[in-house]
Amino acid sequence: MSPAIDRVVVAPPGADRLLAGHLWVFRNQIQDGQLPESGAVVRVTDTRGRFHGMGFYSAQSAIAVRLITRQERAIDGDFLREQVHKAAERRRRQLLGTPAYRLLHGEADGLPGTVADVYAGHVVLQTLAAGSDRLANEIAEAIAEVLAPQSILLRNDPQVRRLEGLVREVRQLRGHTPPRIPLREGSIQLTVDPWQGQKTGLFLDQRENRLALEPIGGRRVLDCFAYEGGFALHAALLASEVVAVDVSATSLARAAEHARLNGFTHLKTVEGNAFDLLRSLAASNERFDTIILDPPAFAKNRAALPGALRGYKEINLRALKLLAPGGRLVTASCSYHLSEADFEDVLRSAAADARRTVHVVARGGQGPDHPVLLGMPETAYLKCWVLTAE
Ligand code: SAH
Repeated sequence: MSPAIDRVVVAPPGADRLLAGHLWVFRNQIQDGQLPESGAVVRVTDTRGRFHGMGFYSAQSAIAVRLITRQERAIDGDFLREQVHKAAERRRRQLLGTPAYRLLHGEADGLPGTVADVYAGHVVLQTLAAGSDRLANEIAEAIAEVLAPQSILLRNDPQVRRLEGLVREVRQLRGHTPPRIPLREGSIQLTVDPWQGQKTGLFLDQRENRLALEPIGGRRVLDCFAYEGGFALHAALLASEVVAVDVSATSLARAAEHARLNGFTHLKTVEGNAFDLLRSLAASNERFDTIILDPPAFAKNRAALPGALRGYKEINLRALKLLAPGGRLVTASCSYHLSEADFEDVLRSAAADARRTVHVVARGGQGPDHPVLLGMPETAYLKCWVLTAE
């Protein structure tokens, strides 16, 4: 006999949301009664007894259930292998041999709360929800079977795990993950630090937007939230001077390492707060041909949105003022809570206050290895626009 499966009953508004294509059930939408242990796989039904799917239950998060599949089936090794295989196939068709890519993007790949990034044959795995965390070893096993990677590192140190009552840990699950993994991104040589780099090592979602900068450069370039040099390095191929700014000295040391690796002597790093730096550059009448703004999410939740809007407005306004005539602004927001329309409003108002005539040259988003699930707007989070100012 198969073990008893826990169940969760969803009240009508929650059930309607599932029927509309969404995969989350919030805590106030589930019926009271005997609730399963955190991390359990549950059968999800509504008050009329209708079956909605299998989900991960979380006792602590505001998201009580994350739907895994709408089919009635066991979440076992076969299922996990199938999900990993489907995800790998999706990437094979779209990424054409890119050495660094996201293999598993949570809900959008049918494995809620699971992230797996591949760096030249090494996998960095994150299990961020109670349910996926319980299955971390099984998910690693499925990845090993489908991809036969050289190593798998469990990088479970993001803050968000706290919302699920999970501890932070970093653990080698398979093979040996080196401290630096060399790889190419377009014309640039990089090394990834999978153990200590931010996220899993690279911000893979911006790959296409970084590559788009290669043929453009700009004579003087300013990259304000540079991390390990992502955009700055690609711009440096054609630029005569690149300034990479970040608050993190560790990230900038890696950016400098990357500049040396690519033989760039015209890329300099400046440690500091981008807000202050933009202000002091304006005060000294500096001008740049290309400015890149790729800040961390200013709005991590809805309550933080008003403050975030002010933050985005301020950096975009200051950057537009610093642009030389005909200059280019590459500007991004990775906050889901800031919609595309909000972003457009912020940019319009920044352009007006800067008294510049601004054209929209491109509206980019996350790369194809960060798939968007149509039923779940939260999966489309990255906006990266290119503007020019007359
Ligand atoms: N563009 C990069 C990723 C940027 S991530 C790439 O493509 O690789 C955002 C970066 O902003 C992080 O490195 C973080 O350290 C930095 N950061 C956060 N707040 C900052 C601030 N106020 N001023 C400057 N840098 C900041």
